[in-house]
Amino acid sequence: MDLYEHQARELFEKHGIVVPRAEVTDSPERARGIARALGGRAVVKAQVKTGGRGKAGGVRLAADPAAAEHAARRILGMGIKGHTVGTVMLAEPVDVDREFYVSYVLDRAAGRFLAVASAEGGTEIEQVAAERPGAVARIPVDPDEGVTTSTAARIADAAGLPPQAVDVLVRLWEVLVREDALLVEVNPLVRTAQGGIVALDGKVTLDDNALYRQSRWGGERVESADPLEARAAAKGLNYVRLDGAVGVIGNGAGLVMSTLDVVAGCGARPANFLDIGGGASARVMADGLSVVLSDPAVKSVLVNVFGGITACDAVADGIVRALEEVTLTKPLVVRLDGNSAARGRALLDARAHPLVEQATTMDGAARRAARLATAASTAG
Ligand code: GDP
Ligand code: MN
Repeated sequence: MDLYEHQARELFEKHGIVVPRAEVTDSPERARGIARALGGRAVVKAQVKTGGRGKAGGVRLAADPAAAEHAARRILGMGIKGHTVGTVMLAEPVDVDREFYVSYVLDRAAGRFLAVASAEGGTEIEQVAAERPGAVARIPVDPDEGVTTSTAARIADAAGLPPQAVDVLVRLWEVLVREDALLVEVNPLVRTAQGGIVALDGKVTLDDNALYRQSRWGGERVESADPLEARAAAKGLNYVRLDGAVGVIGNGAGLVMSTLDVVAGCGARPANFLDIGGGASARVMADGLSVVLSDPAVKSVLVNVFGGITACDAVADGIVRALEEVTLTKPLVVRLDGNSAARGRALLDARAHPLVEQATTMDGAARRAARLATAASTAG
């Protein structure tokens, strides 16, 4: 979940990073009062969860309280990259000498974080990075070691940041770790004419898996925009919609992930990820099947279960009872292996549903489900 600038600012302040005095409002009249309290002049800033506000006219310097009210009136209600501005933040203007860029971002592929920093921060950072990649330093950060003063000094040195930025880099890492963030970005981090270092803008993306610990941001799970994902989430299912034609249901996230790979290896594309977990009761199976079958893109469904603690006959029983509740409209290929597989297969054989067939191996089941999906697609 992304935070608003004013929320990021609050976190920076909590961890000792200097930020301008500021206040948020949704009213132009109140904006005038806030500007007066800030000393008259104010930077009026749109609060939207997207960057590039400055270029879109969402950041304006107001010379006095009346101008602040006027600026707030113009910015409130504005659309910036599809986001409507509902609130503005008024900040005490800072006398900028130089603008820098600093961020920590999760590098999933490398299994670590990356410190990205540049002495040429500001609204043109994307262009700087594209045209002169050498002007942007990228330093790997081991998540277990974190950013110590010496790491921070290396980052500052590589990017050409002033020595005072070292302390900010250490504190920004504290924000990332203590606040459960996957990304923290300050652009610009500025050196003021008085020589201080101030965070003029902030972006923080929290880890959705930690939102239960971050409830002060209203951090319940963000509801998915996809109606099937929302329905699955309401039933407590671990379901992610993909764009293929083979519905996939399995027990255990690892097994389901490899099933997706095997389906792809057979030249088909999986329609979803669905992990029914260890219990695999009839209830969960029925809920899972009904969600997967209601995806119009699904042409066949592959159930891949490896019985460990969960016995395959319990899963087979779940499938049989789910079939009483859910009308099967597409072919179902079931592969049961492991604990009590023989008994499970016998149960499905006894049910003898015309649209259900069994396979003994994962590869065989995936190949069959892929072929059925392709056949259904070419048949129209
Ligand atoms: P963004 O465009 O969404 O990244 O919004 P920013 O908060 O970064 O503001 C855009 C630009 O406005 C910054 O890069 C600064 O150059 C400028 N700016 C913002 N606040 C101040 C301020 O207090 N003083 C000065 N001189 N410039 C500011
Ligand atoms: Mn910015």
